[in-house]
Amino acid sequence: MIVAPSQDWNVFQQIFVEHWDGFKHVYPRYNTPDYDGLVDKMLGCGNPEKIGYRAYRCLHCGQGTHRVAMSCKSSLCLRCAKVYVDNWVSQVSRMLHEGVIYRHIVLTVPALLRQTFYQQAQDVLSPFMRCGARCLDDVFSHVRGKPLTGGYIMVIQTHGRNGQYNPHLHCIATSGGWDQEAQQWVHLDYVPYPLLRKKWQWHLLTMLRQTVKTKETQRLVDACYRRYREGFVTNVQKGDVPSRYQSLATYLAKYVVSPPISLRRIERYDGHRVTYHYRSHKSEHVERETVAVYTFLGRMIQHVFPKGFQRIRYYGVQATKTFATIKRVIQAALAKVQGIVKGAIKIIAPLTYRQRYQQSTGRDPLRCPHCQREMGLWRIWHPTYGVIYDELEAMRRGKYASQETRAAPDGGDRRALRAASGGVPLSLFGLR
Ligand SMILES: [Zn+2]
Ligand SMILES: [Zn+2]
Repeated sequence: MIVAPSQDWNVFQQIFVEHWDGFKHVYPRYNTPDYDGLVDKMLGCGNPEKIGYRAYRCLHCGQGTHRVAMSCKSSLCLRCAKVYVDNWVSQVSRMLHEGVIYRHIVLTVPALLRQTFYQQAQDVLSPFMRCGARCLDDVFSHVRGKPLTGGYIMVIQTHGRNGQYNPHLHCIATSGGWDQEAQQWVHLDYVPYPLLRKKWQWHLLTMLRQTVKTKETQRLVDACYRRYREGFVTNVQKGDVPSRYQSLATYLAKYVVSPPISLRRIERYDGHRVTYHYRSHKSEHVERETVAVYTFLGRMIQHVFPKGFQRIRYYGVQATKTFATIKRVIQAALAKVQGIVKGAIKIIAPLTYRQRYQQSTGRDPLRCPHCQREMGLWRIWHPTYGVIYDELEAMRRGKYASQETRAAPDGGDRRALRAASGGVPLSLFGLR
């Protein structure tokens, strides 16, 4: 069976339907209720009968209806990825401060250690994030010659462009640090690359040695010092990013939090093999890859983080309430360094379902197509809890009548409430 790219979402689900059981059998690591639940949710995503829904209905003319299937919000789900990314951008942009210069730094794990990371993910990932922040503090302090604390927004990603396991940290770091003793902000023009590499190697290997205390790890750590004499690969984005906070967050989101393989990238599935493509950072070209279906499943599932794991964390001055206080000092110091740091930060509010729908279709989903007025929430149904909200029931119990009485003393919403309830001929709906 060969599929057209437009059906990718269905194909993605189909691959899981056909092979998830077999896959678990071969890779028992994934044979747990957590993973099963995740796959189940993903398979039901968008299907109102399976995952639940919110139903809207026009409370004015009684004709317009709209039903929204709940989303699974699972990290495995390609359908929910866009919402996830949008929320992420909003969260990060809210943490960036005007007049503060940030840099984007990438800290990687060498090939020799990736398998250990994969096997010990549960224990290693949190210390991994922490040691990224510690490393940068160390570098800043070393350059300055006295203790400095920077501010860091740390995001962990476990996959490379093609979906293979390749854990690394994306760090949005301040361009310097807080000198606690002198109570001043120290701006650093640049991060010396060779120093950063060596420091990162030391911090990462020390963390690993202390976290996974086995002979095998000790052997790997030693091998890493011998093999990577220049330190580990780090990447500092050239230049500052003073005025482009919004685009920085958006740009980061694109490859930091996007799923390993985006929807439109699956090209072909014949029941045994999957062909997909991705854009390679190295070659800047679109690369095509055909893998066995279990390899494909493995590449998708291995990037699911342990339940409750925080992928974005804040360290140093960025994490504390003191940031609000020292922010002015930072801004003043940076303004002296390079004139006024211009550019307003745009805080990006997370979009509601209604806004997203409107953005992609140009149509307001909650406007009644018959009378053009706004529809109201009618019913919420959940597969486990059943009907959670029922407007018709509420009306029968006299919801509006009692509210009207309550609203009466201050006179506020009286007319609107009467209009809403008065205009609804309940018996016409016949929903039950
Ligand atoms: Zn979903
Ligand atoms: Zn209507």
